[in-house]
Amino acid sequence: MSSQVLVINSGSSSLKYQVVNARTGVAAASGLIERIGYTHSHLTHRNNSDSTTWDIKAEDHAQAMSHMQQAFTTLGPTLGELDLVAVGHRVVQGGYRFGAPVQINDSVKTIIDELSGLAPLHNPANLEGIIAAEEAFPHLPHVAVFDTAFHMTMPARASTYALNAEVARQYRVRKYGFHGTSHSYVSKQAAQFLGQADADTNLIVLHLGNGASATAVAGGASVDTSMGLTPLEGLVMGTRTGDIDPAVTMYLARTAGMSMDDIDDLYNRRSGMLGLTGHQDMRDVVAACRAGNTQAQAGLEVYTYRLKKYIGSYFAVLGRVDALVFTAGIGENSPDIRELTISGLEHLGLGINPDRNRESKPGVLDISADDALVRTLVVPTNEEWEIARQALDTVQESKDEA
Ligand code: ADP
Repeated sequence: MSSQVLVINSGSSSLKYQVVNARTGVAAASGLIERIGYTHSHLTHRNNSDSTTWDIKAEDHAQAMSHMQQAFTTLGPTLGELDLVAVGHRVVQGGYRFGAPVQINDSVKTIIDELSGLAPLHNPANLEGIIAAEEAFPHLPHVAVFDTAFHMTMPARASTYALNAEVARQYRVRKYGFHGTSHSYVSKQAAQFLGQADADTNLIVLHLGNGASATAVAGGASVDTSMGLTPLEGLVMGTRTGDIDPAVTMYLARTAGMSMDDIDDLYNRRSGMLGLTGHQDMRDVVAACRAGNTQAQAGLEVYTYRLKKYIGSYFAVLGRVDALVFTAGIGENSPDIRELTISGLEHLGLGINPDRNRESKPGVLDISADDALVRTLVVPTNEEWEIARQALDTVQESKDEA
Protein backbone atom coordinates (compact mmCIF):
# COMPACT_ATOMS: atom_id res chain seq x y z
CA MET A 1 0.00 0.00 0.00
CA SER A 2 1.20 3.53 -0.80
CA SER A 3 2.33 5.78 2.07
CA GLN A 4 2.37 9.05 0.11
CA VAL A 5 0.81 11.93 2.02
CA LEU A 6 0.19 15.44 0.75
CA VAL A 7 1.16 17.85 3.54
CA ILE A 8 -0.42 21.30 3.46
CA ASN A 9 0.68 24.30 5.51
CA SER A 10 -1.70 27.10 4.73
CA GLY A 11 -1.03 30.67 5.85
CA SER A 12 -3.10 33.80 5.28
CA SER A 13 -1.39 34.64 1.98
CA SER A 14 0.74 31.56 1.37
CA LEU A 15 0.39 27.84 0.89
CA LYS A 16 3.25 25.37 1.32
CA TYR A 17 2.86 21.80 0.10
CA GLN A 18 4.92 18.65 0.03
CA VAL A 19 4.24 15.08 -0.98
CA VAL A 20 6.18 12.91 1.42
CA ASN A 21 6.40 9.18 1.97
CA ALA A 22 5.23 8.79 5.56
CA ARG A 23 7.31 5.64 6.06
CA THR A 24 10.64 6.83 4.63
CA GLY A 25 10.45 10.64 4.81
CA VAL A 26 11.42 10.92 1.13
CA ALA A 27 9.78 13.94 -0.51
CA ALA A 28 8.58 13.42 -4.09
CA ALA A 29 7.76 17.10 -4.69
CA SER A 30 7.19 20.29 -2.79
CA GLY A 31 6.16 23.84 -3.46
CA LEU A 32 5.23 27.25 -2.21
CA ILE A 33 2.50 29.59 -3.39
CA GLU A 34 2.95 33.17 -2.24
CA ARG A 35 0.91 36.38 -2.31
CA ILE A 36 -2.49 34.66 -2.37
CA GLY A 37 -5.17 37.37 -2.57
CA TYR A 38 -2.81 39.89 -4.23
CA THR A 39 -2.94 40.97 -7.89
CA HIS A 40 0.12 38.90 -8.78
CA SER A 41 0.91 35.63 -7.08
CA HIS A 42 3.60 33.09 -7.76
CA LEU A 43 4.12 29.40 -7.40
CA THR A 44 7.42 27.55 -7.05
CA HIS A 45 7.28 23.80 -7.61
CA ARG A 46 10.19 21.45 -6.93
CA ASN A 47 10.48 17.87 -8.02
CA ASN A 48 13.48 15.54 -8.12
CA SER A 49 14.98 17.24 -11.18
CA ASP A 50 13.96 20.91 -11.17
CA SER A 51 12.61 23.96 -9.41
CA THR A 52 10.14 25.96 -11.53
CA THR A 53 8.48 29.29 -10.75
CA TRP A 54 5.24 30.43 -12.37
CA ASP A 55 3.46 33.78 -12.19
CA ILE A 56 -0.13 32.94 -11.37
CA LYS A 57 -3.38 34.57 -10.34
CA ALA A 58 -4.66 33.19 -7.03
CA GLU A 59 -7.42 35.28 -5.51
CA ASP A 60 -8.03 32.74 -2.78
CA HIS A 61 -6.83 29.40 -1.43
CA ALA A 62 -9.13 27.43 -3.74
CA GLN A 63 -7.51 29.00 -6.80
CA ALA A 64 -4.06 28.44 -5.27
CA MET A 65 -4.92 24.76 -4.77
CA SER A 66 -5.96 24.33 -8.41
CA HIS A 67 -2.65 25.91 -9.53
CA MET A 68 -0.87 23.40 -7.30
CA GLN A 69 -2.75 20.53 -8.99
CA GLN A 70 -1.82 21.99 -12.37
CA ALA A 71 1.84 22.14 -11.33
CA PHE A 72 1.79 18.43 -10.50
CA THR A 73 0.12 17.63 -13.85
CA THR A 74 2.46 19.79 -15.96
CA LEU A 75 5.77 19.50 -14.10
CA GLY A 76 5.35 16.11 -12.44
CA PRO A 77 5.27 13.81 -10.73
CA THR A 78 1.56 13.47 -11.52
CA LEU A 79 -0.79 13.00 -8.61
CA GLY A 80 -1.98 9.79 -10.29
CA GLU A 81 1.45 8.19 -10.18
CA LEU A 82 1.99 9.41 -6.61
CA ASP A 83 -1.07 7.48 -5.38
CA LEU A 84 -1.85 9.72 -2.38
CA VAL A 85 -3.44 8.05 0.66
CA ALA A 86 -4.15 11.13 2.82
CA VAL A 87 -3.81 14.88 3.16
CA GLY A 88 -2.18 16.14 6.38
CA HIS A 89 -2.88 19.73 7.42
CA ARG A 90 -0.80 21.77 9.82
CA VAL A 91 -3.15 23.55 12.21
CA VAL A 92 -1.55 25.96 14.66
CA GLN A 93 -4.01 26.06 17.55
CA GLY A 94 -5.79 22.93 18.76
CA GLY A 95 -6.39 24.59 22.13
CA TYR A 96 -7.81 22.53 24.96
CA ARG A 97 -9.79 20.46 22.43
CA PHE A 98 -7.15 18.42 20.60
CA GLY A 99 -4.31 16.50 22.23
CA ALA A 100 -3.77 14.34 19.14
CA PRO A 101 -4.21 14.51 15.38
CA VAL A 102 -7.76 14.02 14.16
CA GLN A 103 -9.48 13.04 10.94
CA ILE A 104 -11.32 16.13 9.70
CA ASN A 105 -15.12 16.25 9.56
CA ASP A 106 -17.61 19.08 9.91
CA SER A 107 -17.45 19.21 13.69
CA VAL A 108 -13.61 19.30 13.67
CA LYS A 109 -13.77 22.25 11.27
CA THR A 110 -16.27 24.02 13.54
CA ILE A 111 -13.94 23.58 16.54
CA ILE A 112 -10.90 24.83 14.57
CA ASP A 113 -13.00 27.85 13.67
CA GLU A 114 -14.09 28.35 17.29
CA LEU A 115 -10.45 28.30 18.37
CA SER A 116 -9.67 31.23 16.05
CA GLY A 117 -10.03 33.63 18.96
CA LEU A 118 -6.86 32.07 20.42
CA ALA A 119 -4.96 32.20 17.09
CA PRO A 120 -6.59 34.88 14.92
CA LEU A 121 -3.71 35.02 12.42
CA HIS A 122 -3.37 31.29 11.99
CA ASN A 123 -6.50 29.16 12.46
CA PRO A 124 -8.71 30.97 9.90
CA ALA A 125 -5.95 30.61 7.29
CA ASN A 126 -5.42 26.94 8.20
CA LEU A 127 -9.17 26.36 7.83
CA GLU A 128 -9.25 28.02 4.41
CA GLY A 129 -6.53 25.63 3.29
CA ILE A 130 -8.48 22.65 4.65
CA ILE A 131 -11.69 23.65 2.86
CA ALA A 132 -9.86 24.27 -0.43
CA ALA A 133 -8.02 20.94 -0.17
CA GLU A 134 -11.22 19.03 0.64
CA GLU A 135 -12.75 20.42 -2.54
CA ALA A 136 -9.64 19.55 -4.55
CA PHE A 137 -9.26 16.05 -3.05
CA PRO A 138 -12.78 14.98 -2.02
CA HIS A 139 -12.00 11.25 -1.99
CA LEU A 140 -8.99 11.40 0.34
CA PRO A 141 -9.09 11.45 4.14
CA HIS A 142 -7.91 14.79 5.56
CA VAL A 143 -6.16 14.92 8.93
CA ALA A 144 -5.47 17.97 11.13
CA VAL A 145 -2.13 17.88 12.97
CA PHE A 146 -1.92 20.54 15.67
CA ASP A 147 1.16 22.54 16.69
CA THR A 148 -0.13 22.57 20.25
CA ALA A 149 -0.98 18.86 20.62
CA PHE A 150 2.46 17.66 21.75
CA HIS A 151 2.29 20.04 24.71
CA MET A 152 -1.07 18.81 26.03
CA THR A 153 0.89 16.45 28.31
CA MET A 154 2.17 19.43 30.31
CA PRO A 155 1.13 19.18 33.96
CA ALA A 156 -1.22 21.91 35.21
CA ARG A 157 1.57 23.42 37.33
CA ALA A 158 3.44 24.22 34.09
CA SER A 159 0.50 25.28 31.92
CA THR A 160 -1.29 27.43 34.52
CA TYR A 161 -0.63 31.16 34.74
CA ALA A 162 -1.07 32.69 38.20
CA LEU A 163 -3.99 34.64 36.81
CA ASN A 164 -7.36 34.93 38.50
CA ALA A 165 -8.68 31.38 38.10
CA GLU A 166 -12.18 32.48 37.13
CA VAL A 167 -10.92 34.70 34.31
CA ALA A 168 -8.46 32.05 33.15
CA ARG A 169 -11.24 29.43 33.06
CA GLN A 170 -13.76 31.65 31.31
CA TYR A 171 -11.38 32.75 28.55
CA ARG A 172 -9.27 29.56 28.39
CA VAL A 173 -6.11 31.46 29.25
CA ARG A 174 -3.24 29.01 29.81
CA LYS A 175 0.05 28.00 28.29
CA TYR A 176 -0.57 26.00 25.12
CA GLY A 177 2.88 25.97 23.49
CA PHE A 178 3.69 25.67 19.78
CA HIS A 179 6.17 24.04 17.36
CA GLY A 180 4.84 20.74 18.74
CA THR A 181 5.36 18.70 15.56
CA SER A 182 8.99 19.81 15.47
CA HIS A 183 9.62 19.13 19.18
CA SER A 184 7.96 15.73 18.84
CA TYR A 185 9.93 14.73 15.72
CA VAL A 186 13.26 15.96 17.05
CA SER A 187 12.76 14.24 20.44
CA LYS A 188 12.15 10.88 18.75
CA GLN A 189 15.19 11.33 16.49
CA ALA A 190 17.37 12.26 19.46
CA ALA A 191 16.23 9.26 21.52
CA GLN A 192 16.87 6.96 18.57
CA PHE A 193 20.36 8.48 18.10
CA LEU A 194 21.11 7.94 21.81
CA GLY A 195 19.92 4.33 21.47
CA GLN A 196 17.28 4.85 24.15
CA ALA A 197 13.52 4.33 24.23
CA ASP A 198 11.48 7.55 24.08
CA ALA A 199 9.97 6.66 27.45
CA ASP A 200 13.43 6.63 29.06
CA THR A 201 14.74 9.83 27.50
CA ASN A 202 14.82 13.33 29.03
CA LEU A 203 15.71 16.19 26.71
CA ILE A 204 15.82 19.93 26.45
CA VAL A 205 14.91 20.83 22.85
CA LEU A 206 15.72 24.27 21.46
CA HIS A 207 13.80 25.01 18.25
CA LEU A 208 15.57 28.15 17.04
CA GLY A 209 14.11 29.46 13.80
CA ASN A 210 12.49 32.79 13.08
CA GLY A 211 10.08 31.80 15.81
CA ALA A 212 11.84 30.04 18.68
CA SER A 213 10.83 27.82 21.57
CA ALA A 214 12.39 25.59 24.19
CA THR A 215 10.73 22.43 25.48
CA ALA A 216 11.48 20.21 28.45
CA VAL A 217 10.77 16.62 27.35
CA ALA A 218 10.48 13.91 30.02
CA GLY A 219 10.10 10.33 28.85
CA GLY A 220 9.16 11.48 25.35
CA ALA A 221 6.44 13.88 26.55
CA SER A 222 6.42 17.67 26.80
CA VAL A 223 6.38 18.76 30.46
CA ASP A 224 7.06 22.46 29.91
CA THR A 225 7.59 24.79 26.99
CA SER A 226 8.53 28.42 26.55
CA MET A 227 5.71 29.62 24.27
CA GLY A 228 2.40 30.34 25.93
CA LEU A 229 -1.18 31.27 25.06
CA THR A 230 0.40 32.60 21.86
CA PRO A 231 3.84 32.19 20.27
CA LEU A 232 4.94 35.52 21.80
CA GLU A 233 6.14 34.17 25.15
CA GLY A 234 9.57 32.80 25.94
CA LEU A 235 12.77 33.10 23.96
CA VAL A 236 13.95 36.15 22.04
CA MET A 237 12.94 35.62 18.38
CA GLY A 238 13.50 37.21 14.97
CA THR A 239 10.91 39.93 15.54
CA ARG A 240 9.17 38.94 18.83
CA THR A 241 10.08 40.05 22.33
CA GLY A 242 9.59 36.71 24.06
CA ASP A 243 9.21 37.17 27.84
CA ILE A 244 8.42 40.71 28.88
CA ASP A 245 6.82 42.26 31.96
CA PRO A 246 3.08 42.42 31.10
CA ALA A 247 3.00 45.84 32.78
CA VAL A 248 5.02 47.22 29.84
CA THR A 249 1.75 46.94 27.88
CA MET A 250 -0.17 49.14 30.31
CA TYR A 251 2.77 51.51 30.60
CA LEU A 252 3.03 52.02 26.82
CA ALA A 253 -0.73 52.38 26.47
CA ARG A 254 -0.93 55.01 29.22
CA THR A 255 2.36 56.82 28.74
CA ALA A 256 3.07 56.55 25.01
CA GLY A 257 -0.61 56.54 24.02
CA MET A 258 -0.14 53.36 21.98
CA SER A 259 -3.21 51.36 20.98
CA MET A 260 -3.52 47.59 21.51
CA ASP A 261 -2.87 47.08 17.78
CA ASP A 262 0.28 49.26 17.98
CA ILE A 263 1.57 47.23 20.91
CA ASP A 264 0.68 43.94 19.23
CA ASP A 265 2.66 45.06 16.17
CA LEU A 266 5.54 46.29 18.35
CA TYR A 267 5.86 43.05 20.36
CA ASN A 268 5.31 40.63 17.47
CA ARG A 269 6.85 42.34 14.45
CA ARG A 270 9.19 45.15 15.51
CA SER A 271 11.04 43.66 18.48
CA GLY A 272 13.27 40.61 19.04
CA MET A 273 16.56 40.61 17.12
CA LEU A 274 15.12 43.07 14.61
CA GLY A 275 14.24 45.56 17.32
CA LEU A 276 17.51 45.06 19.21
CA THR A 277 19.98 45.03 16.32
CA GLY A 278 18.20 46.16 13.14
CA HIS A 279 18.58 42.65 11.71
CA GLN A 280 15.95 39.93 11.81
CA ASP A 281 18.06 37.27 10.14
CA MET A 282 20.53 35.68 12.54
CA ARG A 283 23.14 35.39 9.76
CA ASP A 284 23.16 39.20 9.50
CA VAL A 285 23.36 39.59 13.28
CA VAL A 286 26.35 37.23 13.50
CA ALA A 287 28.08 38.97 10.56
CA ALA A 288 27.54 42.41 12.13
CA CYS A 289 28.86 41.07 15.41
CA ARG A 290 32.02 39.79 13.71
CA ALA A 291 32.46 43.21 12.09
CA GLY A 292 32.55 44.72 15.59
CA ASN A 293 29.03 46.15 15.71
CA THR A 294 28.39 46.66 19.43
CA GLN A 295 24.60 46.77 19.04
CA ALA A 296 24.66 43.34 17.39
CA GLN A 297 26.95 42.03 20.14
CA ALA A 298 24.62 43.32 22.85
CA GLY A 299 21.61 41.81 21.01
CA LEU A 300 23.29 38.41 20.86
CA GLU A 301 23.98 38.57 24.58
CA VAL A 302 20.29 39.14 25.27
CA TYR A 303 19.41 36.27 22.90
CA THR A 304 21.81 33.74 24.41
CA TYR A 305 21.30 34.86 28.02
CA ARG A 306 17.57 34.11 27.65
CA LEU A 307 18.44 30.69 26.24
CA LYS A 308 20.76 29.95 29.18
CA LYS A 309 18.00 30.85 31.64
CA TYR A 310 15.55 28.45 29.99
CA ILE A 311 18.16 25.69 29.85
CA GLY A 312 18.88 26.17 33.56
CA SER A 313 15.22 26.16 34.51
CA TYR A 314 14.52 23.02 32.46
CA PHE A 315 17.41 21.24 34.20
CA ALA A 316 15.56 22.03 37.42
CA VAL A 317 12.27 20.75 35.93
CA LEU A 318 13.73 17.52 34.53
CA GLY A 319 16.27 16.51 37.17
CA ARG A 320 18.16 14.25 34.77
CA VAL A 321 18.90 15.49 31.26
CA ASP A 322 20.22 13.07 28.62
CA ALA A 323 20.79 15.67 25.92
CA LEU A 324 20.37 19.26 24.92
CA VAL A 325 19.13 19.39 21.33
CA PHE A 326 19.48 22.24 18.83
CA THR A 327 17.15 22.35 15.82
CA ALA A 328 15.57 24.62 13.12
CA GLY A 329 17.25 27.30 10.96
CA ILE A 330 19.50 28.83 13.62
CA GLY A 331 19.89 25.74 15.82
CA GLU A 332 20.97 23.58 12.88
CA ASN A 333 23.15 26.10 11.05
CA SER A 334 24.79 28.45 13.52
CA PRO A 335 27.80 27.07 15.39
CA ASP A 336 28.34 30.55 16.86
CA ILE A 337 24.94 30.62 18.55
CA ARG A 338 25.43 27.06 19.83
CA GLU A 339 28.83 27.95 21.27
CA LEU A 340 27.63 31.19 22.90
CA THR A 341 24.61 29.40 24.36
CA ILE A 342 26.58 26.57 25.96
CA SER A 343 29.52 28.65 27.18
CA GLY A 344 29.38 29.08 30.94
CA LEU A 345 27.05 26.10 31.43
CA GLU A 346 29.84 23.61 32.16
CA HIS A 347 28.64 23.34 35.78
CA LEU A 348 25.47 21.71 34.40
CA GLY A 349 27.55 19.01 32.70
CA LEU A 350 27.30 20.63 29.27
CA GLY A 351 30.23 21.22 26.96
CA ILE A 352 30.86 21.17 23.23
CA ASN A 353 33.80 20.15 21.11
CA PRO A 354 34.64 23.21 18.96
CA ASP A 355 35.69 21.13 15.92
CA ARG A 356 32.61 18.90 15.98
CA ASN A 357 30.45 22.00 16.46
CA ARG A 358 31.74 23.37 13.14
CA GLU A 359 31.39 20.12 11.18
CA SER A 360 28.59 20.14 8.68
CA LYS A 361 27.20 16.83 7.58
CA PRO A 362 23.66 15.60 7.07
CA GLY A 363 21.77 13.87 9.86
CA VAL A 364 22.12 14.02 13.63
CA LEU A 365 25.39 15.48 14.91
CA ASP A 366 26.84 14.88 18.40
CA ILE A 367 28.85 18.02 19.15
CA SER A 368 29.52 17.22 22.82
CA ALA A 369 32.93 17.54 24.41
CA ASP A 370 34.39 14.14 25.34
CA ASP A 371 34.10 14.84 29.08
CA ALA A 372 30.58 16.33 28.96
CA LEU A 373 28.10 14.59 31.24
CA VAL A 374 25.15 15.75 29.15
CA ARG A 375 25.22 15.28 25.35
CA THR A 376 24.64 18.20 23.01
CA LEU A 377 23.07 17.20 19.69
CA VAL A 378 22.14 18.98 16.48
CA VAL A 379 19.04 17.31 15.01
CA PRO A 380 17.57 18.55 11.70
CA THR A 381 13.83 18.99 12.07
CA ASN A 382 11.35 17.73 9.49
CA GLU A 383 7.85 18.93 10.32
CA GLU A 384 6.40 17.73 7.00
CA TRP A 385 7.50 14.16 7.63
CA GLU A 386 6.09 14.25 11.16
CA ILE A 387 2.75 15.59 9.86
CA ALA A 388 2.70 12.87 7.16
CA ARG A 389 3.47 10.16 9.73
CA GLN A 390 0.79 11.36 12.13
CA ALA A 391 -1.75 11.73 9.31
CA LEU A 392 -1.13 8.19 8.05
CA ASP A 393 -1.28 6.71 11.57
CA THR A 394 -4.56 8.54 12.21
CA VAL A 395 -6.13 7.29 8.98
CA GLN A 396 -5.02 3.72 9.71
CA GLU A 397 -6.33 3.85 13.28
CA SER A 398 -9.72 5.09 12.14
CA LYS A 399 -9.84 2.29 9.51
CA ASP A 400 -9.00 -0.27 12.21
CA GLU A 401 -11.80 1.08 14.39
CA ALA A 402 -14.34 0.96 11.54
P1 ADP B 1 10.93 29.59 10.35
O1 ADP B 1 10.47 28.23 9.87
O2 ADP B 1 10.60 29.89 11.77
O3 ADP B 1 10.65 30.71 9.42
P2 ADP B 1 13.61 28.51 10.04
O4 ADP B 1 13.64 27.37 10.97
O5 ADP B 1 13.64 28.23 8.58
O6 ADP B 1 12.49 29.55 10.40
O7 ADP B 1 14.86 29.46 10.40
C1 ADP B 1 15.04 30.65 9.71
C2 ADP B 1 16.17 31.41 10.37
O8 ADP B 1 17.34 30.58 10.42
C3 ADP B 1 16.59 32.61 9.54
O9 ADP B 1 15.91 33.76 9.94
C4 ADP B 1 18.04 32.75 9.89
O10 ADP B 1 18.14 33.70 10.91
C5 ADP B 1 18.45 31.43 10.48
N1 ADP B 1 19.61 30.82 9.81
C6 ADP B 1 19.65 30.02 8.73
N2 ADP B 1 20.92 29.69 8.42
C7 ADP B 1 21.72 30.28 9.35
C8 ADP B 1 23.13 30.33 9.60
N3 ADP B 1 23.99 29.68 8.82
N4 ADP B 1 23.56 31.06 10.65
C9 ADP B 1 22.70 31.73 11.44
N5 ADP B 1 21.38 31.71 11.27
C10 ADP B 1 20.88 31.02 10.24
